[in-house]
Amino acid sequence: MLTIAEIKSLAVESIESRRNEIIEISKHILENPETGFTEQKTSKFVKEKFEALGIPFQDKLAITGVKGFIEGGAGTGPSVAVIGELDSLRVVDHPYHDDVTGAAHACGHHCQIGSMIGTMIGILVPGVLENLSGRVIPMAVPAEEFIEVERRKRLRDEGKIEFMGGKQEFIKLGVFDDVDMAMICHTATDEGKFSLGLGGTSTANVLKLVEFYGRGAHAGAAPHKGINALNAAMIALSGINANRETFRDQDTVRVNGILTSGGDAVNVIPGNVTLEYRVRSGYLDALANNSKKVDRSFKAGALAVGARVSITNIAGYLPMRNNKDLQQLFGNNAEQVVGKQNVLVRPDNYNDGGSTDMGDLAHIMPLIHPFCGGATGTPHGNDYVIDDYDKAVIEPAKSMAMTIIDLLTEKSQKAIAIKETDDTPMTKDQYLKLQRERNEVIEFDGSDD
Ligand SMILES: [Zn+2]
Ligand SMILES: [Zn+2]
Repeated sequence: MLTIAEIKSLAVESIESRRNEIIEISKHILENPETGFTEQKTSKFVKEKFEALGIPFQDKLAITGVKGFIEGGAGTGPSVAVIGELDSLRVVDHPYHDDVTGAAHACGHHCQIGSMIGTMIGILVPGVLENLSGRVIPMAVPAEEFIEVERRKRLRDEGKIEFMGGKQEFIKLGVFDDVDMAMICHTATDEGKFSLGLGGTSTANVLKLVEFYGRGAHAGAAPHKGINALNAAMIALSGINANRETFRDQDTVRVNGILTSGGDAVNVIPGNVTLEYRVRSGYLDALANNSKKVDRSFKAGALAVGARVSITNIAGYLPMRNNKDLQQLFGNNAEQVVGKQNVLVRPDNYNDGGSTDMGDLAHIMPLIHPFCGGATGTPHGNDYVIDDYDKAVIEPAKSMAMTIIDLLTEKSQKAIAIKETDDTPMTKDQYLKLQRERNEVIEFDGSDD
């Protein structure tokens, strides 16, 4: 009979012995970046790795998602998911960008697939799996980055997806129905001298597709016959900026946007102008409150010049919640892997302003979303690269494998305790209802007629 420490050693040794192979998985994905819901090559690559490891799986979940099933050998128990995100960003001047699509892994998700598969390499080794009660569920999930919204809206209109985030869509499809808890490790640059950072939260958000309708006219001969939709948009942006002084520091409010179409020809008064905007906040009530101010500003722009505006609000992500007990277990193991002095624990309300759909999942099940070091540059920037794959892939894999061993050995009593004391605030149905209610279309006519 092996002790838990001995079982963990077997897992860690397995990961260490196949270290190069695991890192190569991440590097292969780095070289083949694909944005959300288009991750066909990455999905196929994950399936090949699952097949090589003998992991049965379901595929084509939310278009490209893959879900594996690994049964513990010591009887039934809770199911623990290890998640890797399939998607990249689009950063056309990133050193590892795709020449055709501009896709690039400027958020380090390629390391998550490596650490997810690396964790399985630790779990599947003889001596480990037969001592686990319950299931381990490795998952490759599409579309965490909330980008290319127009394209995703077309997918939505075609009925291929309902939600724009991969985990949101997985929740709706029931892919998480048989999962009791989850974990993921995300790369970061702001861990300083630390190797792994735990705790903290993230922002909720709402995405706005905005379209101003004015009237095109000859810009030289008949500007008085036009209604300038670009001017409406500019006034709206001034309105948004005028509201910034009302954003409370403790609410972590962010409002950013892009002009996606500003007119068609320089000698025509722009009759049609489109924008994508995003409002974020650490709390749903503050998000709703500040989102209204932004909507009001868009209406003000339309009113000023007599244009119409259509605002399509799309439910974004919910704030992150880390399960304390799961975090404690992971933290203990991380300390063994990287040393206590290299593990950073942040307060629950620490919020750097980013958003993730792990926050959505955290509203219906206990989970953790630690950050690992190993990256340099600016997140989402053209200089965000991994310079230490041990920190970004191997140390997270070892820490997650050890945490699963804690959870599912000894008749999975630790996992059962986490399930029983779970204080996640919503059921799946309540979550879906909330998100569907956050979707809305606002039409405002600022013209006199
Ligand atoms: Zn990102
Ligand atoms: Zn990310």
